[in-house]
Amino acid sequence: MITKEISKAKEVLINNQLVAIPTETVYGLAGNAYSEMAIKKIFELKKRPYFNPLIVHIKSISSLFEIATDIPETAYMLAEKFWPGPLTLVLKKRSHISDLITAGKETVAVRVPNHPLTLALLNEIDFPLTAPSANPFGSISPTSAQHVFNYFEKELDVILDGGECEKGLESTIIGFENNKPILYRHGSIAAEEIEQVIGSKIGMKTVDDQAPNAPGMLTRHYAPMTDTYLTDNITEFIKDFEGKKIGLLLFKDAVTDHTIIRQEILSSSGDLHEAAKNLYAAMHRLDQDKLDVIIAEKFPNEGLGKTINDKLERATKKE
Ligand code: AMP
Ligand code: MG
Repeated sequence: MITKEISKAKEVLINNQLVAIPTETVYGLAGNAYSEMAIKKIFELKKRPYFNPLIVHIKSISSLFEIATDIPETAYMLAEKFWPGPLTLVLKKRSHISDLITAGKETVAVRVPNHPLTLALLNEIDFPLTAPSANPFGSISPTSAQHVFNYFEKELDVILDGGECEKGLESTIIGFENNKPILYRHGSIAAEEIEQVIGSKIGMKTVDDQAPNAPGMLTRHYAPMTDTYLTDNITEFIKDFEGKKIGLLLFKDAVTDHTIIRQEILSSSGDLHEAAKNLYAAMHRLDQDKLDVIIAEKFPNEGLGKTINDKLERATKKE
């Protein structure tokens, strides 16, 4: 059921079952972070491999000490600046945090999501939620309750409807090595914004999102079912697909070609934030068009453009 009633979500969570929750990034598939049963269900429902750790969602910075320990000063600085918001911190875990959540690591990923409905829910329950994105492993992340419904209509009793996700891209993940912040995943907060807070360039270790311990494996993710390509010269590239049903995923300018079936323009004014917000919904629509091929264009490699390119590269990776 799609509902706005948090009491329904609360009831399901207390019974160790899962609910979909809205956040500002993408919809999450949430369960009680202190219930092994609920955590296992998340992995099973998503068909997510157990080596891929989950993020713990807490209601405010004051709950952080329940989850993590030995927290670097810079982590507090970043949390103060960006929480509630699309920043995930990877910190030393407290011993009671399940090894299932952390995939056996000594670190745990944690954030305070910025969505009124989910924050209200977190304030109603006396446990944190653990929630990866509410999509089957590898497929396009959901940015509306309807997207989640399309994936998990039968399996989920409650999909909490908080409207369209405001940011539309996953959180930026920052870890710490020798107390120095390292960017683990490009996300909704541009690396440049993080650097402004820490006052220096950030080191990057954007290892494989899906197999943090196994670089190079399973990088395909955020992927449509339709054959999808990424190019920096769209007008030239489409010439190779003459006679095919083509859909395009474009930044700001349409392509003049009457044979194109659908063109998704993510921001006609060239605003990267608007493009980020529209990205996954456009991918979902293109994927439902029964096209032969989706061709995406590369974004300018700056600010959120880096994150969008990262997602598009994974979406178009050929196995
Ligand atoms: P999702 O919630 O689907 O965006 O996935 C959560 C992501 O968080 C995973 O893909 C991991 O890359 C990352 N993550 C979670 N825990 C850790 C950790 N302890 N160390 C590094 N990355 C992590
Ligand atoms: Mg995901």
